[in-house]
Amino acid sequence: MTKKNLKERLDKGPVICAEGFLFEIEKRGYMSSGEFVPMVSLEHPEALENLHRDFQHAGSDIVQAFTYNGHREKMRVIGKEELLEPLNRAALQIAKDVAISPLGEEQNLMAGNISNSNIWNQNDQKSQLEVEKMFREMVGWAVDESADILIGETFYYAEEAYTALKVMKETKLPSVITIAPYGENIMRDGISILDTCKELEQLGGDVVGMNCHRGPNTMMPYLKEIRKAIKCHVAGLPITYRTTNNHPTFFNLPDNNGCSFHSPHETTFPTALDPMQCNRYEIGQFAKEAYSLGINYLGVCCGATPMLIREVAEAVGLKVPASKYRENMENHYMFGKNKRIPKHIKDYRNKA
Ligand SMILES: [Zn+2]
Repeated sequence: MTKKNLKERLDKGPVICAEGFLFEIEKRGYMSSGEFVPMVSLEHPEALENLHRDFQHAGSDIVQAFTYNGHREKMRVIGKEELLEPLNRAALQIAKDVAISPLGEEQNLMAGNISNSNIWNQNDQKSQLEVEKMFREMVGWAVDESADILIGETFYYAEEAYTALKVMKETKLPSVITIAPYGENIMRDGISILDTCKELEQLGGDVVGMNCHRGPNTMMPYLKEIRKAIKCHVAGLPITYRTTNNHPTFFNLPDNNGCSFHSPHETTFPTALDPMQCNRYEIGQFAKEAYSLGINYLGVCCGATPMLIREVAEAVGLKVPASKYRENMENHYMFGKNKRIPKHIKDYRNKA
């Protein structure tokens, strides 16, 4: 079975990557929100495999191992450090199994994954060395388990992203690196979004861009600048919520849709974001615009569902297995135009 590498695929056209495992696995009932530890690879491997297969069916070319937050520090917080390596290896093996049994002619690419550590401190070298060690052990397991590429994602400190890329590059595997600045629209160590991306290109990132935290509206302006400023391939994977200039990320997004009973937590994040969800057409429009700008690595992050991944894929001209089940309102019992539908039912549509 043939398998093109990441660059060959990107040079040819769009490459789709489903992210957002944390939110979707939580919604499916296999993870605690807030705590967000990806124990699912050990506790319910079948649920994780199912989600990978659903994303694959919807057109994801990359099968990203679900090891987000599955790092030593998080496991220490919950007192399960001894499960760190088994958790990582299980997630990688599940992703590999899916990637090597594709629905089409070509195998998918399995991606090992590292991400924001949440202990990085720009003024504390000890924390930085600890993070580097965490990255190195996870990347090592990814190489052991035959990852085709590595993804470093959701970094909000520029220097942490540089460190992640440095560790990823040691393996010689193709490296995707994406940042996720907070609402101040600057990295937490004071480096601009654009300068961070330029530096990531200089450091050898094969694909550089943004993921998570921001919806299409507040990510697109930066993607446009990044696309102009760098030469390598660019990635854009927004969350699927309607963020605004006043609330550029989902962390402080207010409910503007007639909420009658608020979340018991400080914010709508992460358990009451549902009413601010983008519809599929908004996500499709994002993907279409991004692709027209020359951004070939596309997907969505938190809030991703297989339906939205299909939307991204179709918006950039791809036909995927799930395209078979694309909407067909023609045969709807009331809103359809099919002439076999009784007239008295169709005529009632405005009163429905
Ligand atoms: Zn995300």
